Amino acid sequence: MGVMTVLTIAGCQGCGACILTCPERAIRAAPGSPAVDPSLCTACGECIEVCPVDAIGFRDEGVNGHLER
Ligand code: SF4
Ligand code: SF4
Repeated sequence: MGVMTVLTIAGCQGCGACILTCPERAIRAAPGSPAVDPSLCTACGECIEVCPVDAIGFRDEGVNGHLER
């Protein structure tokens, strides 16, 4: 496991798929876009796979950049 610890959500369409998919129940509905609880997220990437608009991505805390899948 790397250091992909920060999950960012931008451009969310509010479909709710990520909330239903997360095996850790780390994603909760929130005003605007879902919120990820970093203490629960295991960085499995399933929410990224399921998002229809690619709104979710990992941000490597140590490096600037966007890790896709
Ligand atoms: S990466 Fe996995 S554990 Fe983390 S919020 Fe997404 S589906 Fe849940
Ligand atoms: S799957 Fe993507 S578009 Fe749907 S609620 Fe989650 S972040 Fe938003």
